[in-house]
Amino acid sequence: MNRIYKLKGLKDMSDKLSFLTLKENVIDVGKCTGCGGCVCCPLNLIEMIGDTPEIVDESKCTKCEICVLKICPRIPESLADLEEKFFERAFTEEDIIGIYNKSFTVTTKNDKIKAVGQDGGVVTSILACLLEEGEIDCVIASKRLPGWGTEAVIVNSIEELYICAGTRYTLSSNLKVLREAIQNYEKIAVVGTPCQIQTIRRLQKNLKRYGKKIKLAIGLFCTEVFTYDGLIKEKIQDELKLDLEDIEKMNIKGKFIIYPKKGDQIEIPLKDLKGHIKEGCHYCTDFSAEYADISVGGVGSKLGWSSVLVRTPAGENALTKAIEKGWLEAPKEISEKGFVILKKLSEKKKTRGK
Ligand SMILES: Cc1cc2nc3c(=O)[nH]c(=O)nc-3n(C[C@H](O)[C@H](O)[C@H](O)COP(=O)(O)OP(=O)(O)OC[C@H]3O[C@@H](n4cnc5c(N)ncnc54)[C@H](O)[C@@H]3O)c2cc1C
Repeated sequence: MNRIYKLKGLKDMSDKLSFLTLKENVIDVGKCTGCGGCVCCPLNLIEMIGDTPEIVDESKCTKCEICVLKICPRIPESLADLEEKFFERAFTEEDIIGIYNKSFTVTTKNDKIKAVGQDGGVVTSILACLLEEGEIDCVIASKRLPGWGTEAVIVNSIEELYICAGTRYTLSSNLKVLREAIQNYEKIAVVGTPCQIQTIRRLQKNLKRYGKKIKLAIGLFCTEVFTYDGLIKEKIQDELKLDLEDIEKMNIKGKFIIYPKKGDQIEIPLKDLKGHIKEGCHYCTDFSAEYADISVGGVGSKLGWSSVLVRTPAGENALTKAIEKGWLEAPKEISEKGFVILKKLSEKKKTRGK
């Protein structure tokens, strides 16, 4: 608790924390991840304006402290508490890619997903399977908008999941729709970047309704998120003069690759995009979504396959079911070389984030 009271704007222990505390200590100093979690404010006073949380009416904030102490992943609450709760022990320095029980490289068996998935289509396959089996009744995910924008969505059909497949390398504040999902659904799965999964774990630990209703957290490996203005507008539209509607897919494989609907792929060295990294990502030390039930990424697998780290019984159930029900191919071992790269990227992010 003492660390909390070192926050800016607080005079002593009796001071209550409010949205203003969040604003002064996280948002205004560029640490906000834009995850959208604080929109779960019980009084419904916080909304995302673009990538930034704002309060609708500050005079109505009751200083309940929830957005600061119980949700935000950038407030120094002890992560060890989350680790004990969800993984039965605190992480050690050896846990470079978090705690996991099993690891695989996997791909989808479903042709529709193969066509739209980012890597192995594993995320979409698992979620489609769980929806079909009735194990979940909705998914919080991200949809691609025209012009490569993103939108957080609540999905409750397999057809809609197909529309969400693939990666957008710009921010999608997925958790801004979580409050609405909690009000309308009972068995929720969430897809998100590592910071979004940290928020999910805080919500599950601290707020009963969230703990009860969120059944699965699928984490995506993530080095960083780029700003829409920097990556999409400045680099791709203005500098490369590409029509956004002519782009089929983007991916990162050692470099940033753009796949046009027609013609050759265009490669951008990652160092050329450094200036477009979202500011809040510079504080992040989590590459492999260490707090997820199951983490999925391209690194460590061949093209068209995903690396999967199974971390909890919920994660294991999800993967096993998707294999048993024929959504995924039989999983294979990640190669030694694949693991080396995975751990190297994770270490790099930990060093950079400090
Ligand atoms: C910003 C970002 C950076 C990433 N960086 C890396 C990396 O450096 N190395 C690596 O190995 N993998 C990275 N990934 C993960 C990788 O791109 C794939 O998402 C992952 O391999 C799963 O592939 P899939 O084919 O199983 O997923 P799919 O079946 O295609 O499903 C992808 C899911 O991701 C969700 N999604 C898409 N864009 C976003 C977004 N911006 N924010 C939140 N959710 C989103 C969709 O809603 C969909 O449910 C990154 C992902 C994101 C979103």
